[in-house]
Amino acid sequence: MHQAKLDLGFFNLVAGRRLPTDNRMMVIDPSTGLELATAPDIDRSGLDAAAAAARTAFPEWSMLTWADRRARIAEVIAVLRDHVPELSALLVLEGGRSPAIAEWEVRWVTDLFAPLLLEQRLSEQEWHQEGMGRVIQRHVPRGVVGAISPWNLPFMLSFVKALPALLVGNTVVLKPSPYTPLTVLRAADRISAALPAGVLNVISGGDELGPWMTSHPDLEQISFTGSTQTGRRVLGAAAATLKHVTLELGGNDPGIVLPGTDPLPIVERLFQSMFMLSGQTCIGLKRLYVHEADYDALTRALVAHARTQHVGAAFDPSAALGPIQNLPQLLRLEAAWAEIQRSGARVLYRGDNPRDSRGLFFPITLLDDPPSDAPYVREEHFGPLRSVMKYRTLEEAFLKANDSAYGLGASVWGQDPLFLDTAARQLEAGTVWINQHMLTHPSVPFGGHKDSGIGVMYGIEGLRDLCDLRVIAARY
Ligand code: NAD
Repeated sequence: MHQAKLDLGFFNLVAGRRLPTDNRMMVIDPSTGLELATAPDIDRSGLDAAAAAARTAFPEWSMLTWADRRARIAEVIAVLRDHVPELSALLVLEGGRSPAIAEWEVRWVTDLFAPLLLEQRLSEQEWHQEGMGRVIQRHVPRGVVGAISPWNLPFMLSFVKALPALLVGNTVVLKPSPYTPLTVLRAADRISAALPAGVLNVISGGDELGPWMTSHPDLEQISFTGSTQTGRRVLGAAAATLKHVTLELGGNDPGIVLPGTDPLPIVERLFQSMFMLSGQTCIGLKRLYVHEADYDALTRALVAHARTQHVGAAFDPSAALGPIQNLPQLLRLEAAWAEIQRSGARVLYRGDNPRDSRGLFFPITLLDDPPSDAPYVREEHFGPLRSVMKYRTLEEAFLKANDSAYGLGASVWGQDPLFLDTAARQLEAGTVWINQHMLTHPSVPFGGHKDSGIGVMYGIEGLRDLCDLRVIAARY
């Protein structure tokens, strides 16, 4: 079975209306390799219109009370919630994920993130400062936020940017990835009546659109999630107009299993942390370090579990892992695999691809104790290609785990809470998990160290990241 081309229209949302474009881009279903739909390919004048609409809407939106904005956003969320089945179905097709994971992604926003966001509030602080008088410190919205999201969690990573930016009083121009624009465009179409015109603009376009946004004079901030390589370009482009940037970038997360840890209770969680979404997660566990005495038992259990997991089309109920979302990403993985083979690295396990399919598949692949400094261990693999490595001493494990340009997430696994707490403090990352990996929560700030990012999202810190600080100092 494969999905025919979708009989649906997808439109930009600009100034509260559908904005027609002269050109359209093809969107592929990665499970079949076939065309799924077309999406608008906006031109520069379309971006100018979106930015102007957001700028025009800003004064009134930012002057609303927090409660009024909150009420409007609650309406948006109610509409999104009414359309969970439709949005999830689109995500299955364009994202190449199972119906269960697609629904989880949409509901993560509508049922977990949004309700907790609506409980948050930035409050003023006030005190008497000797020599200065009455001091009031407030966080004020900046203006227009340009939100740029990647293809791996297109719905989640678009709305976790847009909704907090709107709540604090900014207006938004949101751009989904050209590989996965459909769910976000559909959602925008559905919620357009719930917000004043121009407050949220959603636009889809090709490779030039991101650079146009990051250099656009009407945008005050760029909230970007994507690769470190693109993040550097965003930061460079933002300099000319001195934009604020929030950069949520790539990762090559290590996990350390402490000596003497029983593998059986953790092996399924380890596998999920490594291979969820076919390994296309920024905070996936990508380098696993295991004590040499435990290595054979743990890898045996991991491989035994891997053998029960199959790669297949998103709509195939027997598939635990779906396709790679787009062809350039698949080609990157295949190039890495060719290099690994040339290097003579040992392989613990390499699964199968579905037969007779034109879908974009890469098999589950586990490398057997490759050198920690091999280029293919040091770089981020955004797909089901992972390394398990031996260590002799914990000191060596921490050194190797921290010897990375990235610092997004990390984890330690074991049984003794004291030992685990001490070990967790040795790891250089924005989030360090204990006996888990890849969990984020709307109330808990999240951001990367080193080349994994600048700034944070989620929680009160995430709201502050979208604001300027204003101080009023009064002497009466
Ligand atoms: P990408 O950097 O190729 O693209 C991300 C977005 O940026 C897309 O919308 C793209 O169109 C746009 N873009 C491309 N070039 C641009 C430019 N010069 N200026 C502005 N925008 C531009 O990333 P991707 O392949 O879509 O996503 C995978 C990467 O994202 C991985 O490295 C992954 O680790 C990272 N990621 C990070 C997080 C996080 O929270 N830290 C979350 C998810 C994904």
